[in-house]
Parts: sequence; structure tokens; C-alpha cells
Amino acid sequence: MMRRLLPAMLLLTALTGCGDEPAGADGKLPVVTAFYPLQFVSERVGGDAVDVSTLTKPGAEPHDVELTARQVGEVSDAGLIVYLAGFQPAVDDAVKQNGGDRAFDAATAVETINATEADAHAEGEEEHSGVDPHVWLDPTRLAGIADKVAERLGKADPAHAADFTARAATLRTELTALDGEFTTGLANCARRELVTSHTAFGYLADRYELTQIGITGIDPETEPSPQRLAAVAAEAKEHGTTTIFFETLVSPKVAETIAKEVGAQTAVLDPVEGLADGSADYFSVMRANLAALKLGLECS
Ligand SMILES: [Zn+2]
Repeated sequence: MMRRLLPAMLLLTALTGCGDEPAGADGKLPVVTAFYPLQFVSERVGGDAVDVSTLTKPGAEPHDVELTARQVGEVSDAGLIVYLAGFQPAVDDAVKQNGGDRAFDAATAVETINATEADAHAEGEEEHSGVDPHVWLDPTRLAGIADKVAERLGKADPAHAADFTARAATLRTELTALDGEFTTGLANCARRELVTSHTAFGYLADRYELTQIGITGIDPETEPSPQRLAAVAAEAKEHGTTTIFFETLVSPKVAETIAKEVGAQTAVLDPVEGLADGSADYFSVMRANLAALKLGLECS
């Protein structure tokens, strides 16, 4: 009798095992996020119902992240994976192999734009599909991602669906306020050309009607050609640029080279890809960015 039942019981266990949503030891839904802004959104929307981890260490440059075997395991065990296809090849691979329908590509929640002309000429460009991945630098697009994260969390954990929706709405209110600060703060500026080492600000430029002049390209570690450096320096001079922006997670060398060439200064503009300072968050970094832009572009 037992012998006959056993295969059927094993089959039943396997079936219910598939249907169960993965839950951590504390009953919280494990959510794996690819890098900081997606971690920030998932934490804000998920609240205490989820256990959020991130595949990019704080302070690390996320474009070229490598995953450990343990992190690949986390992807396999997650209830939801929030990532951005085309941004981090190692994460794309892990999702392709182990993500299944638990993976949510944040880029599908927003209207994407193509990488700038500068990037089309950068070396190694064939690795990029032509879409600019830095969608989170437009707060209104990040709000759209938060809504979709709430929807996906609600499907994975229906008991908390209403909480997720409510938290996403609160976050949207805050992001809309931030968007308003940017619109007002950048309304009247002496210049609208944003010269930056890492070409990460396409969405910010798109939203607030600035013109991004990128030096290195979409991937900050791409070495710009001497021709590219000369072209950017000429453009910066032509527009009377006084500030060349660089980011904190990679070397400022390229920005300093151009700045010297055109007699400008350098200032930090943070692409919010990974936080070096644990006390900062998306809002505080974006407000520091706004202050730097107002100073560098002479906005009144
Ligand atoms: Zn980037």
C-alpha cells in the first residue's frame, strides 16, 4: 500500500512546491534587485512584507557587475527579481537562466529613449542595444516603475497587494514633488548644455529640456577617443561651459582633462547607480544633483 502511494505523494509535493510562492525564513517575500534605484523602489513599495537584497554592492559601479555563485542562487530563490534588461550583462544572464516569470524588467514600465549620438560613436557600442538604460534619473519614470513593482509584488503576495499599491502611490507623490523642484529649478538657466563624463543623464535632460554632451558614453569605463575628447572640448567652448560634471564611482580624470582644456571647473553629478554614502537615498542624491546643476548652469 505504502509503495503504491509514495510516487503519487512525491508528485503532489512537487506540484504544490511549484505553486508555492518562495518565502524567506521570516515569511517575508524575498525580492532580489539588480542595483540601487531598483532596491530603493522595492524597499519603499514592499515595506515590511518583503526582504530586499541587491546584486550590486553599495559604492560599486554597477554596469560591469560580476555575480558570485551565492548571488546566482539568490536569483533562483527570489519571489520577485527586479532588474533592467540591457544594463548589466551578468544580471541579464542570471535572469535568463534562473529568473523565469519571476523576473520583472523595469525598462518595460517606461518609455525608453535611445542613447545619444555621442554614444553611437563610442567604442564597444555594439554591447548596447541603443537604448539608454538610465531611466531612473527621471523621477516621473521611476514612479511608473514603482507602480509596476507594486503590481508584481501584489501578484506574488496577494495578501499585501493593497499595501503595495498604497505605498507606490505615496512614493509617486514624493517623486512628483521632486519632479516639480527640478522643473522650477532648471526653468531659467544661463546655459542648457550639460557636459558630463558618464553619459547617464539622457532621461534627466529629456525631462527638463537640457542638452546632454557626454564624454565617455553609456558605460562610464569606456575610454573616450582623442577625437571624442577634442569634439567635446570644442562644443563646451562654443557653449561657454563653465562646469564639467563627473560622477563619484569612477575616476574624474576624463572630466578634468576637458575642464583644463576649456578652462572650466568640475563638479559632481551623481547617476544614483550605487550609493557610496549609507545615509543618502535617492531623494537626497537627486536634490544634491539639482543644486549642482543650478550652480553649474547658472540657473536663477
Ligand atoms: Zn551608467
